[in-house]
Amino acid sequence: MNSTSALNSAAKPDIHICEVGPRDGLQSIARTMPTEDKKRWLTALHAAGLREIEVTSFVPAKLMPQLADAAEIVAHALTLPGLQVVALVPNLKGAEAAMKAGAHKITLPCSASEAHSKANVRMTREQMVENVRNIVALRNEIAPKVQIEAGISVAFGCTLQGIVPEDDVISLLSDVIAAGADETGLADTTGMANPAQVRRLFRRAFAAVGKDKVGAAHMHNTRGLGIANCLAAYEEGIRAFDSSLAGLGGCPHAPGASGNVVTEDLVLMFEAMGLRTGIDIAKLILAREPLKTGLPGEPLYGMTAEAGLPLGFSYA
Ligand code: ZN
Repeated sequence: MNSTSALNSAAKPDIHICEVGPRDGLQSIARTMPTEDKKRWLTALHAAGLREIEVTSFVPAKLMPQLADAAEIVAHALTLPGLQVVALVPNLKGAEAAMKAGAHKITLPCSASEAHSKANVRMTREQMVENVRNIVALRNEIAPKVQIEAGISVAFGCTLQGIVPEDDVISLLSDVIAAGADETGLADTTGMANPAQVRRLFRRAFAAVGKDKVGAAHMHNTRGLGIANCLAAYEEGIRAFDSSLAGLGGCPHAPGASGNVVTEDLVLMFEAMGLRTGIDIAKLILAREPLKTGLPGEPLYGMTAEAGLPLGFSYA
């Protein structure tokens, strides 16, 4: 690697990327990746420069056997220096388990659509806000340093109810912050967002709770608009993004549906625009190996891994 292409990892990144493949990706694949391969995968993601990873989800093993090794995965992630270890939790019991396992941050998905909320966590939106309040109280008592993010899922559309009114999204977002969450964010869980909608909704979110309370844009690439939606959120002022290596994910009931926006492509876009991510694309591509070993034959998405870096590319 010559000096013009070397990653500038010393400076503070302009863009913060949270890798969510080990949670969002693995939960949407019916097969289970062996625990040892998951650990190798996390190590490789960290080696590529990722400093925040959503490593697992504390949900009943009965419902999601793919993530039954949650506590062991968190324990491994905690050995990786400087890594912010994030776990998703649906309820108080999961939150307690995640805090006891040592997660630095927990993320609670709160559905803006009543239909999705009931299907996903079997709670109404009001019950979910109450859930946030209870989890904040527990955190204050047993793990005061743990950060709590209450992200708004299906914020841009819902496969069950279709259009989700923007007023519903903004009122839920305001309610979770009022309930004590440290930050919130907007998630296009179903890959239905478009860039104009992304700009409008983030602008409204900033106005409702203040820019410092709005964390990441969480975009899915179901219809190929994931990257465009991330750029729209960037232009509106968002600097934190969730993405998944190789766009891992999909839906067992929708053949061909891909997962989150692809980490490799997202890093390439920002670095090519002159914005530092702190992430090495060649090492990201190497981090696909444990994924291939652990889930043989699983489709991997992303154009950068196929095409390679453009001639003359240099890191920001
Ligand atoms: Zn997602």
